[in-house]
Amino acid sequence: MTVTASTRRLFVVAPLVAGAVVTLDKPQSHYVVNVLRLRAGQGLLVFNGRDGEWRAEVADIRKTACVLRALEQVRAQVSEPDVWLAFAPLKRSRIDMAVEKASELGVALLCPVDTERTNADRVNVARLRATAIEAAEQCGRLVVPEVREPVGLGRLIADWPAQRRLFVLDESGSGQPIAAALAKHAGEACGFLIGPEGGFAPSEIAALRRQPFVVAVGLGRRLLRAETAAMAALACWQAVAGDWR
Ligand code: SAH
Repeated sequence: MTVTASTRRLFVVAPLVAGAVVTLDKPQSHYVVNVLRLRAGQGLLVFNGRDGEWRAEVADIRKTACVLRALEQVRAQVSEPDVWLAFAPLKRSRIDMAVEKASELGVALLCPVDTERTNADRVNVARLRATAIEAAEQCGRLVVPEVREPVGLGRLIADWPAQRRLFVLDESGSGQPIAAALAKHAGEACGFLIGPEGGFAPSEIAALRRQPFVVAVGLGRRLLRAETAAMAALACWQAVAGDWR
């Protein structure tokens, strides 16, 4: 990995205030000491999803851990777009890519969803969480998207908050054109649901369409891979209703 100023950012869990001492875990200590090759007194940026972004310095490199000290806040915490992505799990390299790109595109929450035709490896949530953190560090976000444990489609529907719009990516061609649908619901909390490579089963699409919060949307005539559909939908949303405006 090439290290540039923007990638010298680290997500930490500890509270950040001036003078706060942050003891890094083993993988992060390794990253700071052996990959970034920082020495005591050298600086990097840290964020925790709550206290904005801070300039920090390496305070101490111990055998077991690297210790940072927060110096000053350089960016205040800002609220980020409230958009979720629910998706049928994909094979390993594709799901990693989808999580990385969705994090860059600003999703607040990612939720793997088991559907009838899902045909993928078991979801490794810990790996996806690490991927989301790395993407947030790299792209300059102040928040790391939450990655939920997988749920079945029935559970997703049952638990979906009534006030949150759910745009279902419907490859059948009967959904509304996406830009118009997104413009109509701009300003609402929302999420997207992407089906598996095998597509949604007819009974699943029917169950989804019965929900008052669901709007079925289409991305044109070409059948896209699931991860392409996810990225395209999120990009449309950021442009029409999100923080690209
Ligand atoms: N195998 C299916 C295609 C599934 S594509 C078939 O042959 O019909 C995987 C998922 O990506 C779909 O369930 C849908 O959510 C999304 N998707 C792909 N192309 C799309 C399009 N043109 N419009 C809307 N959603 C699409």
